[in-house]
Amino acid sequence: MCGMDTSMEHHPLSADFLEPRELRTIYKISRVILQAVDTSAALKQIVYLARPIFIFDNVVLFQQENNRTLSPTYARALGRGRSTEADMAWGEAVAGEVFQSGDVVLKEEKRAEETDDRHKARLNTRFFLGLPLWVGGQIEGVLVFIRFGGPAYLPEQVKLARLIAEHIERLLERQILVERVANLEAERRLDRLQQEFVATITHDLKSPLGFIKGYATTLLRDDAQWDAQTRKEFLTIIEEEADRLAQLIDNLLDSSRLQTGTLRMDFQPVNPVDIMRDFQQRVQLGNDNLDVKFDIETCEEVIWVDPYRIMQVLDNLLSNALKYAPDSPVRVSLSWEPQRVHICFQDFGPGIPEDQLDKIFKRFYRVPAYANRATGSGLGLFICQKIIRGHHGEIFAESTLGEGAAFHVFLPRKWRPAESAGLESEESV
Ligand code: ADP
Repeated sequence: MCGMDTSMEHHPLSADFLEPRELRTIYKISRVILQAVDTSAALKQIVYLARPIFIFDNVVLFQQENNRTLSPTYARALGRGRSTEADMAWGEAVAGEVFQSGDVVLKEEKRAEETDDRHKARLNTRFFLGLPLWVGGQIEGVLVFIRFGGPAYLPEQVKLARLIAEHIERLLERQILVERVANLEAERRLDRLQQEFVATITHDLKSPLGFIKGYATTLLRDDAQWDAQTRKEFLTIIEEEADRLAQLIDNLLDSSRLQTGTLRMDFQPVNPVDIMRDFQQRVQLGNDNLDVKFDIETCEEVIWVDPYRIMQVLDNLLSNALKYAPDSPVRVSLSWEPQRVHICFQDFGPGIPEDQLDKIFKRFYRVPAYANRATGSGLGLFICQKIIRGHHGEIFAESTLGEGAAFHVFLPRKWRPAESAGLESEESV
């Protein structure tokens, strides 16, 4: 350690000791700070501005990470002495000392190694200047300047460095503030999302349960007799509501598995035409009043899919068309493109506003204007998109408002899941 009195109290320095050129530079630095948006871009500008008035080879900013370790968050090796060795000299020890003491630390380090190479000899002597960076009464970081082979830092130069450090303190202060505000906003958003989620889910779970309970209680009443037709009608409602409940719970489970990355896919080589025909049969069985038309192009080819998950996507797209375009016919098609299988669900209902076409695939998102038209949780399309992406395919919506909506699903013909040596392969999404 050099024998210079460097202890300092933390109060702003006045700039009256500066030469005009230095003053101009410090003024420019203060402008950079005022306009700074990105901390590291601003630091780069400050370093560039400071160089002509203050000699140094390396400069490093250390900041505390997770309130514990001090790590370099910004470092520049400049002009003289640029070499791998110079690039590695960041002055961690000096930074640690400054952090502990809260004082400016000056240190000269001479490495024992003898050498005739002048460049190497210069690299062997390092002059460190470490300055604490105070924000809100505590040290938030340390700025270290390094000179190779001198000159040693003169008291006036230390003062100048302190002035530069003071400006960097302002920059850190802004950075900390911006982070705090962002964290607060994120917390608030999460809070709101959770509240909305609980409200929606509670309502969605309670409404089918309410019907099941109500109709079951009615059927069990001792003081009333129900004819066969009424009993069947009530039991049908109970069955439908139980199905709705089960589907909602499945969706919730899938969605949380997707969040944790544990939704497993069971890929198999299957002809998608077979899946579509099964689907068609299921839809048409017992649903004579539905106007759903199928146009399936046949082709004897298998592609790798999880049939259960693809069926889930088809179910969801049809149930959406029936929910949101209740009086409209629905056209379902499957066709073969050179590289992909194209599945399309077209309805002629209210359509979807253009600015919502991407949003509807987000978790819990529902078009606000349609929320009262049908029950739902905003999870269906989110899950569909994850499933299709898990197949390396694509899903998107097209719509002309007032004329209907089309949902397009594309599945690759050539793709195979990784390590699918056997007939079955599992991959999580
Ligand atoms: P949910 O139906 O449970 O609300 P989805 O994720 O399946 O959730 O759909 C998200 C939203 O997209 C729906 O709430 C609805 O606003 C809109 N939507 C989906 N399909 C259609 C459609 N065929 N026509 C109009 N709007 C639709």
